[in-house]
Amino acid sequence: MEALRFQVVGEAFKKKPLDVKAPSERPYEYFGKKVFNREKMYKYLPKDVYEKMVDVIDNGSRLDRAVADAVAAGMKQWAVENGVTHYTHWFQPLTEGTAEKHDSFIEHDGKGGMVEEFTGKLLVQQEPDASSFPSGGIRSTFEARGYSAWDPTSPVFIIDDTLCIPTVFISYSGEALDYKAPLKRALHAVNVAATDVCHYFDPAVKKVQSNLGWEQEYFLVDEGLYAARPDLLLTGRTLMGHDSAKNQQMDDHYFGAIPERVAAFMRDLEIQALELGVPCKTRHNEVAPNQFELAPIFEETNLAVDHNMMLMSLMKKVARKHGFRVLLHEKPFAGINGSGKHNNWSLSTDNGILLHAPGKTPEANLRFATFIVETLMGVYKHNGLLKASIMSATNAHRLGANEAPPAIVSSFLGKQVSELLDHIETADKDFLAMAGKQGLKMDIPEIPELLIDNTDRNRTSPFAFTGNRFEFRAVGSEANCASAMIALNSAVAEALVDFKKRVDARIPEFEKKLAGTEHSAKFHAIIDVLREDIKTCKPIRFDGNGYSDEWVIEAEKRGLDVEKSCPKIFERYLDDASIAMFESLGVMTQKELEARNEVKWETYTKKIQIEARVLGDLSMNHIIPVATSYQSQLLKNVENMAAVFPVDKAEKLNARNIKIIEEIAERTSAIEKGVEELVNARKLANKIGGEHDKAIAYHDTVEPKLDEIRYQIDKLELIVDDALWPLPKYRELLFIR
Ligand code: ADP
Ligand code: MG
Repeated sequence: MEALRFQVVGEAFKKKPLDVKAPSERPYEYFGKKVFNREKMYKYLPKDVYEKMVDVIDNGSRLDRAVADAVAAGMKQWAVENGVTHYTHWFQPLTEGTAEKHDSFIEHDGKGGMVEEFTGKLLVQQEPDASSFPSGGIRSTFEARGYSAWDPTSPVFIIDDTLCIPTVFISYSGEALDYKAPLKRALHAVNVAATDVCHYFDPAVKKVQSNLGWEQEYFLVDEGLYAARPDLLLTGRTLMGHDSAKNQQMDDHYFGAIPERVAAFMRDLEIQALELGVPCKTRHNEVAPNQFELAPIFEETNLAVDHNMMLMSLMKKVARKHGFRVLLHEKPFAGINGSGKHNNWSLSTDNGILLHAPGKTPEANLRFATFIVETLMGVYKHNGLLKASIMSATNAHRLGANEAPPAIVSSFLGKQVSELLDHIETADKDFLAMAGKQGLKMDIPEIPELLIDNTDRNRTSPFAFTGNRFEFRAVGSEANCASAMIALNSAVAEALVDFKKRVDARIPEFEKKLAGTEHSAKFHAIIDVLREDIKTCKPIRFDGNGYSDEWVIEAEKRGLDVEKSCPKIFERYLDDASIAMFESLGVMTQKELEARNEVKWETYTKKIQIEARVLGDLSMNHIIPVATSYQSQLLKNVENMAAVFPVDKAEKLNARNIKIIEEIAERTSAIEKGVEELVNARKLANKIGGEHDKAIAYHDTVEPKLDEIRYQIDKLELIVDDALWPLPKYRELLFIR
């Protein structure tokens, strides 16, 4: 009987691109159509309410109840005009997705009929029965309440018939149960710290905003083929599959022409994403076959995170319409590139200055150097934590493989910025005396005019400077960017607070030395601290090849975190330095950190557990039966040969078959043994009480078995009759559109 595989492959080949009608309007006209943005607020809210909302959004002022009622009324009017019947508080629990519970606007009118109602109370706060979301034990079942509370800085949007209200999700006692609450706290901390430091250079700065531009990588697989791969379906990645003879070695996919069926999907996705206010800008093929990327224009970090979460769910929906499944797993296929989500990050002021971009004046460049160096200080001090912030069971497959950032956090600055920092560090000792006489402009002779060359790039660096921002490349494609953004913005906030403290303490010293020139004293104190910090954080700077083995040895010498085990990397969240940082900035308490780590370890264990089960099942009920059945065919053939030919000749003719029969016997028994060991390792690990220890056991004893079993299966794939092989092969999954 022909394997089901051939049927689904045949169907996948025949599929035609969907006809996606281009909207009659231009993109700028339908951009944000489904978002209650400022333009809609202006139209649907009374003027004083509109102004209050702008004040809430721009300046973080409090929103009172009467205003909330008025906003809800305007929102409802807009929503109803757009066919909306339901609303939901949309939040980001500690699972990697988003959550929503839909309620309709309908209420009894007290006269036996119904009215549609939506009040400020419903807009502002809800108590979803969300006791089954992971909370790391913060909410024991007797106090299972969690509250969702509106985040007015991220606009409300419409999906189908539902008004979605972005919210934070917190426990009864105020602990964060989601990503958004600590993210907002971290963004507040970096705003306060960076604004303070900006005042050295420009007292008019009122606010510093953190920016994020993510680049979402993903794979597309035909839906029929996907359904025929239980491993993809249940774990998001292939647990077996031999390399395709051709994969990415020709480099012919990257930036190549986008296949038509995929192009139709992209067009559809972008139209819908633009309507939801996601400013999609770039689309292209990625390095691996069937791998693609979408990137929007960067935005304020909290909004950018929400937009990425929206986009990921939208992608899944639109892909199905086009007969695809989107794979967001970081490493769906062995042997070819995995997917990441580069997080382009920068800080900017309310008067439009990018703090990580060089300026035209020496003063602007001193500010630039300050923000570069203090970013490096944060990244250096917390390099282990930053790695923990992007680590997951799935991303672990990608990091350290030869195409992704290595599992060591370091920073690439490029030649010009490196030279600038070296220059500041080593400038002539006499410059203070000389500079003091020459007024502000010449005050800082070691800061030349800078033109940053964008082509100076290093793809192997996990945290690379790229002209006016840093690119945190180690973030996984499936991750909520908030995790990385909480750690990064907090680390930089802490460095800036510490920097300011030291500069302030040194200003009087320089005032004395420089006799009364206040400006000079300030700038000299800044340079003095920068020199110290440039020396301190030097170990984090690395412009060489991050994939090389020498780098691992060198990084260890430098004292950087080189741990590779995912559950051990999570421990960095509970280091004294991490707890002190998060607590001092008001981002997370020790209790929250501990609870969240429980969730991380538990999630890790569950993912490996599911993979182990799926691989065990597939081995026993797909692979071994098929291999054995092919083996029986060969045995039959051997028998037949013996019946027809004389012994000598039959032996000769049977030699090849006998070899394969033996190989199948060896490999199937190795698989069987592997599965038995896998089951035993799981049983032992399951008996372990604490989530931390259990995750370590899963990592050390269960996970390695998966690779051993896979090795044998992939070898069998090469010798068993192609017509019998049940699962779509790599060449089919990756080259059919
Ligand atoms: P790449 O060459 O790395 O593919 P792109 O030009 O595609 O870079 O941009 C990647 C992302 O970086 C985009 O989302 C872009 O808007 C964003 N970006 C550009 N400048 C900044 C900045 N100063 N801060 C944050 N993100 C930025
Ligand atoms: Mg990039």
